[in-house]
Amino acid sequence: MDPESCTVCKRNPGYFRREYEGKVLCKSCFRESLERKVRRTISHWDMFSPDDHVAVAVSGGKDSLSLLMILHKLWKRFPRTRITAVTVDEGIAGYREEAVDLATKYCEKLGVEHEVVSFEELYGYGLDDFLKNKQERMTACSYCGVFRRKAINLAAKRVGANKIATAHNLDDIVQTYMLNLFQGDAERFVRFSPVLKDPRGLFLTRVKPLCEIPEREVVMYGYAEDLEFQTASCPYMTEALRNELRTVLNKLELAHPGVTFSAYRAMLRLRTLAEPNLAPSHLQACKSCGEPTTFEICEACKMQGINSAIPEIPA
Ligand code: SF4
Ligand code: ZN
Ligand code: ZN
Repeated sequence: MDPESCTVCKRNPGYFRREYEGKVLCKSCFRESLERKVRRTISHWDMFSPDDHVAVAVSGGKDSLSLLMILHKLWKRFPRTRITAVTVDEGIAGYREEAVDLATKYCEKLGVEHEVVSFEELYGYGLDDFLKNKQERMTACSYCGVFRRKAINLAAKRVGANKIATAHNLDDIVQTYMLNLFQGDAERFVRFSPVLKDPRGLFLTRVKPLCEIPEREVVMYGYAEDLEFQTASCPYMTEALRNELRTVLNKLELAHPGVTFSAYRAMLRLRTLAEPNLAPSHLQACKSCGEPTTFEICEACKMQGINSAIPEIPA
C-alpha cells in the first residue's frame, strides 16, 4: 500500500501509483478511473450498440474476470443489451478445471448466463490427448490458439450473440504487434484494430474493450474488486519469443513510463497510414466448417486432418 494519499480525492490512502500520469490513486478512484477509461474506449471505437448480445470470452484468468465485472457494471445501465459469458475448456488436466470453476462461480454471482464448451465436445478430443498423437513440431499454443478461437466463435453463435468481447489488454496487444513485427508478418502487423468487423456481416464482430488498459492495472483492478482468479500458469506455456518481449517491454515501461502507450498509438497511426494501400481482407467461410478463414479450409480443420470440403451428398 502506498503511504501517500490519493491525488484525486485527496482523502483516502494511495492504492496504485500510475507513473505515466504522475498520479497516486486510492482504491475507489483507481476503480472509477479504470472503468471510465474502458467506457471511453468502448465509445471511441463504437464497440457496442444497445441491442447487442455480447459473448464475453471468460477463461477464469484475471483479465477476463475483470472484463466481465466491468461489462456487467456497464450493462446495468443498458438493460436492452445482453451479455453471456463463454468459456472454453481446452482439456488441460490439472489446469483448466480450476479456471472453469472460477468462471462459473462469478457468472452465478453476477447472474450472467454462462456457456461452457470443450475441445472434447467440439473436436472429439481435449488438448492433452490431441498433443499426444501429434508428430509435427508445432507448439501446443499454436494448436490451442487456433482451436480456441474457433471454439469461442462456435459458442458465441450457439448462444445467439452478435459480438464477441475478448479481454486482451494493452500489453498483450503491443506484444502481439512486436511478435508479428519480429516474425515478419507485415500484413497482420498493420491490420491491428480494437474492433474487427466483417463489412459483409458474415462473421461475428470481435472487440477488445481492455485494449488501452495496461496489464498491471487489470491485475490491480481484480484485487480491488476482490476477484479470485487463477494464478497457475498453463503447463504448455512455451511462447518463448512472446515471453522475452514481455520482459523487455516491462523493463522499458518501468524505466520510461508511457512507452507502451506510445507504441500502441503508433500502431493505430500506422494502420491509418497503411489503410489506403491495404488489400481487402480475404476472409471467407471455410469450405468444411463455415468458420472465417483466409484459405479454403480453416486452420482448425486442417489441424484436425480435414483438407478438403465435405462433399455434398447427391440428392
Ligand atoms: Fe493454450 Fe498455450 Fe494458453 Fe496453454 S498457454 S491455454 S496451451 S494458448
Ligand atoms: Zn481517491
Ligand atoms: Zn473449418
